[in-house]
Amino acid sequence: NRRTWRKLVKKQQRHRRRQKQAREREKQEAIEQSARESEPEYQTWLKQQAELEEFKRLTIEHKQQADEEAWLRREALAQRQFQIDAAKHRKEQAEMERLRAQQADELAAMLEEQRMRREEKKRLADKAAAEFEALLQRMHDYMEDTTRCTPPSELQRVLETHPEERLCEFYTRTNCCRYGHSCTFNHRRPMLAKILLIRHFFTHPLLQIGDTHKEYANADAHLEQTPQDLRADYDAFFNDVVDELQKFGKIINFRVVCNTLPHLRGHVFVEYAQERYALRAFVNLQGRYYASRRLNVEFSNLKAWRGAVCGT
Ligand SMILES: [Zn+2]
Repeated sequence: NRRTWRKLVKKQQRHRRRQKQAREREKQEAIEQSARESEPEYQTWLKQQAELEEFKRLTIEHKQQADEEAWLRREALAQRQFQIDAAKHRKEQAEMERLRAQQADELAAMLEEQRMRREEKKRLADKAAAEFEALLQRMHDYMEDTTRCTPPSELQRVLETHPEERLCEFYTRTNCCRYGHSCTFNHRRPMLAKILLIRHFFTHPLLQIGDTHKEYANADAHLEQTPQDLRADYDAFFNDVVDELQKFGKIINFRVVCNTLPHLRGHVFVEYAQERYALRAFVNLQGRYYASRRLNVEFSNLKAWRGAVCGT
């Protein structure tokens, strides 16, 4: 088709024309370019550009170097810090280890000391028990063997409550003191003697008169009692008790304190012919019960009956 063909030819012609124009433009520009390049200003500009490029390159190089140096410095610092930290850590570990070892040593020393103290305590307890056992044996021998006259030396002693103080007159005279253990004067008591003192052994309503403790004092009981009753009751008590006490040995004296004073009433003094008998009585009676009362027995160094007792 003709129209189409012509259109195509025209298009090709336009294309060729444009190509030619472009070639000519490039050629012209090349000419202009070479003309410009040959000018001194252009040469100067080129040189400046080259210098600028070189400056840029150097600047970048400098910066890279500086960065690298900074990095190396940081790295060195980090290394140094790491070493310091590691050394510190090692030191702390060593210190902890040292403390642990020290504590272990201290604990071991403490345990050893405790063990030694326990052993020492046990040794002393064993020794005391053995000594006590030996004393009991000697006491037994002394009580049983009538040919041996001397009592164990441990018993030939006098106990004193306040050795530095003067003697309690009341205790010395009666072996009883209203102040008891709280008395500030000296009470002297033998470990062994011929006389035994049994406190509050004899009880009787008539002796309870004036008692402030109502639970011990039967308010009406003493009203029905007469001195004759007291005498009869005392005789019964005497027969009963002396009978029992004579089993330990010959009795020389038997006295009862018929006093209504609370710290004196009913005390019984028993004097044996020998200390041996008194010791037998003491060993057998101490802690025993009589009329549902626990006996409290001790040795007495009473010098004179008069003043100490009022009834027999
Ligand atoms: Zn006293």
